[in-house]
Amino acid sequence: MDQRGQTRRQILKAAIGGAAGIALGTPVRLAAATQAVSGGSGTLRLSDDLFVLRIPGEAHVVAHTGPDGVVLVDGGSAGASDALLNAVAALPGGGPVHTIFNTHWHPEQTGSNEQLGKAGRTIIAHENTRLWLTTDVTWPWNGRRFKRAPRIAQPSKTFYTTGTLDSGVRYGYIPDAAHTDGDLYVYFPKQNVLAVGDVVSGQGWPVVDWVTGGWIGGIVGGLQRLQALANEKTRIVPARGPVLGLADLKAQYEMYGTIYDRLTQLLNRGRGPSEAVAARPTKEFDAQMGNPDEFVRRAFESLWAYLSPDA
Ligand SMILES: [Zn+2]
Repeated sequence: MDQRGQTRRQILKAAIGGAAGIALGTPVRLAAATQAVSGGSGTLRLSDDLFVLRIPGEAHVVAHTGPDGVVLVDGGSAGASDALLNAVAALPGGGPVHTIFNTHWHPEQTGSNEQLGKAGRTIIAHENTRLWLTTDVTWPWNGRRFKRAPRIAQPSKTFYTTGTLDSGVRYGYIPDAAHTDGDLYVYFPKQNVLAVGDVVSGQGWPVVDWVTGGWIGGIVGGLQRLQALANEKTRIVPARGPVLGLADLKAQYEMYGTIYDRLTQLLNRGRGPSEAVAARPTKEFDAQMGNPDEFVRRAFESLWAYLSPDA
């Protein structure tokens, strides 16, 4: 029995407990998550000192300006880093970055690490994110390979649970493994803005990166956890798509809870990933969310690490 699997199953029980009960038969209304137009491009001003930079083809970056410099949540891909940092410098009150958060290890989030690391800026991440950046990773479903990051580009300040910046900005681990096993949130209390990276997908079906720990049960657990951090007025900024509200988290929680229940039933009946896709466990959501096949396959495979008897 793998110690890690055991622990995760206990987490699952705690996190999922509520989902199964309410999911079945509950009509799901996906609010702004899918009805609003996609996030668009350009800079979105959330307050005088807080912005979302939306470069086409890139994951969103949140920028908080202040007297000591700029705090970023994520840094785009390496190819967009120069454009991004120029845009940050040009923001009202903008300037050099002094701290960047990596919401997780993916290259769409960590592409400015090298440049900022060389400049001596602080790179904050969960310890698991740092560990993934010290090793090569390959995704077996499409052969995509990720080279380890050079040492200067690795997070310089890691944590396990929560932390607070001098400015009062709070951050914390999202231990459900919704997207990877190193996901973090950053909360800006004065502006009531919660940046969540890819833990919440604001646009279409999410990537379930089970190679680095993500899984469908974690998506449900993460959505439950984030609801406890937010209130009715919190603006939630995902890595892609529009800014969301608490109602969107609730709707997504119900939807993924329903899908989770169906996939675990298929697993328990001995079905495989192709049979899971054929069973159309997302059918009533597909018109809004798009073709689910890749998502369903990855989500089903992600159950193996957590729920299989020998896990
Ligand atoms: Zn990602």
